[in-house]
Amino acid sequence: MQNHAYDLFVIGAGSGGVRAARMAAGFGAKVAVAEDRYLGGTCVNVGCVPKKLYVYAAEFGKDFKDARNFGWHSGTPAFDWATLRDNKKSEISRLNAAYENLLVAAQAEVINGRARIIDAHTVAVGERRYTAEKILIATGGWPHIPEFPGSEHAISSNEVFDLEQFPERLAIVGGGYIAVEFAGIFNGLGARVSQLYRGPLFLRGFDADLRAHAAQEIIKTGVDLRFEVNVQSITAGLAGLQVLLTDGSAIEVDAVLYATGRKANLEGLGLENVNVKISDAGTIEVNEKYCTSEPSIFALGDVTGGIELTPVALAEGMSFARRQFGGLEDTVKHDFIPTAVFCQPNIGTVGFTEDEARSTFGPVRVFKSTFKPMKHTISGRDEKTFMKLIVDRASDRVVGAHMMGPDAGEIMQGIAIALRAGATKAVFDTTIGIHPTAAEEFVTMREVWRED
Ligand code: FAD
Ligand code: NDP
Repeated sequence: MQNHAYDLFVIGAGSGGVRAARMAAGFGAKVAVAEDRYLGGTCVNVGCVPKKLYVYAAEFGKDFKDARNFGWHSGTPAFDWATLRDNKKSEISRLNAAYENLLVAAQAEVINGRARIIDAHTVAVGERRYTAEKILIATGGWPHIPEFPGSEHAISSNEVFDLEQFPERLAIVGGGYIAVEFAGIFNGLGARVSQLYRGPLFLRGFDADLRAHAAQEIIKTGVDLRFEVNVQSITAGLAGLQVLLTDGSAIEVDAVLYATGRKANLEGLGLENVNVKISDAGTIEVNEKYCTSEPSIFALGDVTGGIELTPVALAEGMSFARRQFGGLEDTVKHDFIPTAVFCQPNIGTVGFTEDEARSTFGPVRVFKSTFKPMKHTISGRDEKTFMKLIVDRASDRVVGAHMMGPDAGEIMQGIAIALRAGATKAVFDTTIGIHPTAAEEFVTMREVWRED
């Protein structure tokens, strides 16, 4: 075997790359990681972390109002974008340094710059070349904005966090995670938000009842949510951006955020120099061991077009390192992956939608609860919580849990453990609730709502 300078060369220091690098180094491998933008990748810099900080900021607005009926009075609250943006920047800088420390402590070498694959065992960063027995591509994704007249005026999630001016009027295009979350953020911070989705109902892939409930609740929060409409053109004028819509109407805004999905980040990666197969969707094809069609090259995380979530990239990074450097058989289980959409209130979900469950298992029993959260009986806020359980009728196993309500993301993590463990509805029913909470409703839903 040839002698290489490194056992593993990781391209991309995001969620998956950093975790794989640290674990491989922990198993004794000599590891280098190249990163050309920011340590921590999308999640830390322009994803989960700054997004959640902005969600906290957005939720204060309603909290101030809610507090009045509980007896609290203060002056009229005012929001300052620059304070939020700059405090967010400081926190992200702290995290960037923390990621560097983690890699250095693990004895992985950090190389700053864009990496390009030269051959199956060689990577170039700038003028320098590095050889490695194994190369791991963990380059993530990049926002995709379709081309149309005026598309150069649109911004993506990469830019929205650091806008110089707060957009008082904002159009958001898309009906997925990012569009829904940012509609909630900017609406909560006081902007006038129009969210435009091309289909009949947004959040495709989520449970149909949950989607319908989410649309109702989001409209109640004040977002101008429009379905069956798309952008035809954007023109820059003196008073802002004129956005012409496919239904013939027009809106004038300060910014247009496109949240229309992400594409694998393969630009300049040098894949033409090796035998790595790319799918029709433009992602790197891998098997369950993260092997590409080039034996020494592996890939994981968003670049492989799987489930684009940080915990999934982390799990894949760990699985890869255990298998390749720890001598352990390890595969990531992709069923019952819980997920949350951090809109107001949150969506939390795990397992099958009702339609998926029916086509996978056959007849199902469905339990549903819709109620006003106790806090809002006094606050006066018009908000309803929605919960739904889907049970395989033959086995009594709970195969899907869906919620929209305060802290649904937090609640769903525990429910996910139960579903992964194969809990039946009888197990849910004999579990004692925690009172008074919203979560206890998951163990007190007795009446079947729908049954096949
Ligand atoms: P990334 O984290 O994208 O890391 C890839 C890294 O590779 C980047 O740092 C990039 O600069 C670097 N790179 C690329 N090409 C090269 C090259 N040639 N040379 C050197 N470096 C290179 N997920 C959740 O689970 N929860 C959330 O709440 C959540 N919120 C999100 C909000 C937004 C706005 C976005 C955009 C995403 C969000 N995600 C969330 C998804 C999550 O961020 C991704 O799934 C996750 O970051 C994927 O990790 P990764 O390791 O595959 O890639
Ligand atoms: P999504 O794939 O979730 O949503 C893209 C949306 O854009 C869909 O509604 C899609 O419509 C619409 N769309 C696609 N192309 C066009 C077009 N040409 N014109 C108009 N609309 C279009 O992508 P996001 O960008 O929202 O997020 C990327 C991924 O990042 C997510 O899938 C998720 O995995 C991850 N993420 C996770 C978060 C979390 O865990 N909380 C938060 C943010 C992101 P249609 O449905 O009709 O195809």
